[in-house]
Amino acid sequence: METISESLAHTQGRIARACQACGRPPGEVTLLAVGKTKPWEAIAQAAAAGQRNFGENYVQEGVDKIAQWQAQRDSAPGDAAGGLQGLQWHLIGPLQSNKTRVVAQHFDWVHSIDRLKIAQRLSEQRPAELPPLQVCLQVNISGQSSKSGVAPAQALALAQAVQALPRLRLRGLMSVPEPADDEVARRAPHRALRELRDELQRRDPRLQLPVLSMGMSDDLEAAIAEGATLVRIGTAIFGSRTTAHAPN
Ligand SMILES: *Cc1c(COP(=O)(O)O)cnc(C)c1O
Repeated sequence: METISESLAHTQGRIARACQACGRPPGEVTLLAVGKTKPWEAIAQAAAAGQRNFGENYVQEGVDKIAQWQAQRDSAPGDAAGGLQGLQWHLIGPLQSNKTRVVAQHFDWVHSIDRLKIAQRLSEQRPAELPPLQVCLQVNISGQSSKSGVAPAQALALAQAVQALPRLRLRGLMSVPEPADDEVARRAPHRALRELRDELQRRDPRLQLPVLSMGMSDDLEAAIAEGATLVRIGTAIFGSRTTAHAPN
């Protein structure tokens, strides 16, 4: 079995080859390691191997891991903590309004903004001593009724409203398309998200949306070919998720 450090290197290799295949500079794509259902020890191994950006789906699970990280970082003397400095924590799962305060206090990014009320609460609750919370709008790009995300037709109004909030910094768009079997079907929703981003920027040139958070373990090549700047990878780094999680 591969170690986490080996899986991470393997995933970075996939990203580099995907960039090369479409003529994009490899530094353009950020790898977000998604550790949902995995223990802090797994995250720590990835951090020791140099990984810096971590994604969590469930608020309480993420907050618990952030607390473990801070405790370990602050107790390790000098250089021993070197591998644990500067981790960035991204919430990528659904967010309910009764959970916004802990998210505003602990996370660096939220990718799953799909309504204004959540964004307003995060902005009000972001502590003054922290930098603005970086956010992406989650878009229901394939239009399934079961999926969360703002409808593409509502995205411009939401982006303009979020951009006006003082303690948030709008960075781009995110989507979670249905799994698909072939490359054409995999690329279509990623292309649609990029085109929506381009359209929003055209309709309101004040909107700056450089980030396209799209692509997971099974479709990162398709997402990079369509312009992803951040891929969210769980299984390919940490292995399959066998344990059930407690929803929160
Ligand atoms: C779980 C999850 C991922 C990672 O999925 P893998 O297929 O394990 O790479 C990415 N994004 C979101 C929103 C997720 O919930």
